[in-house]
Amino acid sequence: MVMNNFSLGLPPTIQPIDSPIAQQAGVELSVLRLDAMHPWVNGNKWFKLKYNLLEAKQRNLTTLLTFGGAYSNHIFATAAAGKLFGFRTIGMIRGEERLPLNSTLRFAVEQGMQIFYLDRQKYRERHTTALQAQLQQRFGDVFIVPEGGSNLNGVRGCMEILNNQAFDTVCVACGTGTTLAGIILSLHKDQRAIGFPVLKNGGFLASEVDSWLNNYLVSDLPLADEAMSKSWELICDYHMGGYAKVNDELLQFQQQFTQEHGVPLDYVYTAKMFYGVMDLLKQGFFPKGDRLLLIHTGGLQGNISY
Ligand SMILES: *Cc1c(COP(=O)(O)O)cnc(C)c1O
Repeated sequence: MVMNNFSLGLPPTIQPIDSPIAQQAGVELSVLRLDAMHPWVNGNKWFKLKYNLLEAKQRNLTTLLTFGGAYSNHIFATAAAGKLFGFRTIGMIRGEERLPLNSTLRFAVEQGMQIFYLDRQKYRERHTTALQAQLQQRFGDVFIVPEGGSNLNGVRGCMEILNNQAFDTVCVACGTGTTLAGIILSLHKDQRAIGFPVLKNGGFLASEVDSWLNNYLVSDLPLADEAMSKSWELICDYHMGGYAKVNDELLQFQQQFTQEHGVPLDYVYTAKMFYGVMDLLKQGFFPKGDRLLLIHTGGLQGNISY
C-alpha cells in the first residue's frame, strides 16, 4: 500500500532504563526509540527525509536522487521510504562498484533504488550546482536530497523528534549536527541538549550547528510556538578513534548494554553516545534529579558490517 501523508503511524516509544549507574547518580534515564518506529524507515534519517518528501510531492517530482557511502543509513532509509511512499529513487554511491553488493546496497536495490557510482573526486562535488545540473540532465526532473538528508527540510523534520516529551537534558549522537540543530530548535525553556560528535576533533561541529540554527531562523520555515532555549553543548571525548572506528571497550559496552536493557545499539553513532553518557554518569556530570533522555537515532542496519 502506498501512503501519501508521509506518516509512519505511531510516534516513537519511550523506554525507561533501569540502571544502577543512573540510580547511583540520582538521574532518571530513558531512551526515545526512533530505531523502532518502522522496520526500515526509522531513526533520525526518517525525520530528515520527511519534509524533503513533502517538497518533492508539492513540486510534482516523483523521483528522489540522493548521495551516500556504501553503508549509508541515509541511502537505506531513502530507498525504503521511496518504496513505502511511492517515489522512484536513485542512489549516487561514493567510490567504485564492488560486487557482490553489501547488505545495505542489496537492500536498497531490492526496494527499487537504482544505484550508480561516483568516484571519490566526483563525489566531492555533490553539493555543487554544476554536478547537480549534470545529474538533472542525465536523469530528468529529479528531486535532489543532499547526503544524509542534511538541509533545512531535514532540520525541520528533526524539530518533531522530541514531540513535547518531558525531560531536562537530551543527548544525541552527531555526524553533521543537523539533527542536533532541529532538536535545539524544539527545546522548551529550561531544557538543554548535548551532542556527542562521533568524528575525531568534533569541536568544529559547534559552528556547523550554529549555521544550521541561523539559516533556519532567517528562513521562512515554521518555528516552534515557545521561545526556544538555546542551551546546548558538544562533548567531543567519545569518538573512540574517529568515524566508524571501534575498539574492544566499545564492542563490549554495546553487547552488555543490549543484554542488560534490551536496547540494540549501532556501532557508528548510538553506542558511542550511550557509552559517553554512562561514563559521564559515573563521573557525576549530570545534576541529581536530572531527567535524561537519550535519542536512539537508529542505524542498526549498519551493524552487519562489523
Ligand atoms: C546520520 C546519523 C546520525 C547523525 O545525524 P546528523 O544529523 O548528521 O548529526 C546519528 N545517528 C544515526 C544512527 C545516524 O544514522
